[in-house]
Amino acid sequence: MAPDIRKLFDFPLAPRLGRINAIYGPMFSGKTNKLLLEARHLSIAQKDYLVFKPVLDDRVEEACIDSHDGDSHEAIVVQSSHQIVDELLRYFHHSKELPDAVLLNEVQFFDEGVVEVVAELSMLGVEVYWAGLDTDWRGVPFHFQPALEGATAAKHIGDLLLLPRTVHDRQYAVCKLCGRKNATMTYRTGEGEGLVQVGGQDTYEARCSRHFYQGMIERGHFKREQDKLTSILGRLREELDL
Ligand SMILES: [Zn+2]
Repeated sequence: MAPDIRKLFDFPLAPRLGRINAIYGPMFSGKTNKLLLEARHLSIAQKDYLVFKPVLDDRVEEACIDSHDGDSHEAIVVQSSHQIVDELLRYFHHSKELPDAVLLNEVQFFDEGVVEVVAELSMLGVEVYWAGLDTDWRGVPFHFQPALEGATAAKHIGDLLLLPRTVHDRQYAVCKLCGRKNATMTYRTGEGEGLVQVGGQDTYEARCSRHFYQGMIERGHFKREQDKLTSILGRLREELDL
């Protein structure tokens, strides 16, 4: 179900857009850690905030966010971006104001309505922090789930990254192959072609772009593109008589 964003239109526009803090990068880059650190800072500053996470695969999700190094924070588990709006309205009826900030973890697993929700929150002056993967295992922008079941989602993470007043907080992981802390890609070591395959260190590893593409070419994923590129270069060489 598409988020009923109109409910939020009843609120007056803020004189200033709320800042959108985009915490993005590959798996194992510490995105959740960073989000939890921001939550801690908000609570020291005595700000009111709500933390959300999407439900995955209809599993029963625990209502908290855990980082790899044991940090933890309670979170509201939602099925859709529509529910974020519902929770905000519930909060408003209770507190008579909107929260200072909204934090979203694993934003890539929300439906595409989340882009509109974040944009609208910013327009209402609410600060947003989101953490998520920018690219999927194929190295392309992570596509959101469709807002309506059976439809095709048109929006991907790039649409979120390009919202006005977004501050980019890119996180880097350590490349599993060369050990440099420049990994921007999530490499799937296991088999399977599905877009979402929940897993940890047994299924995925962080890689720098060089070792990511090297791995993908070795497994034949970029063969066609590679052939095309070679033939273009070959034709250019012939034309230029090199
Ligand atoms: Zn590397």
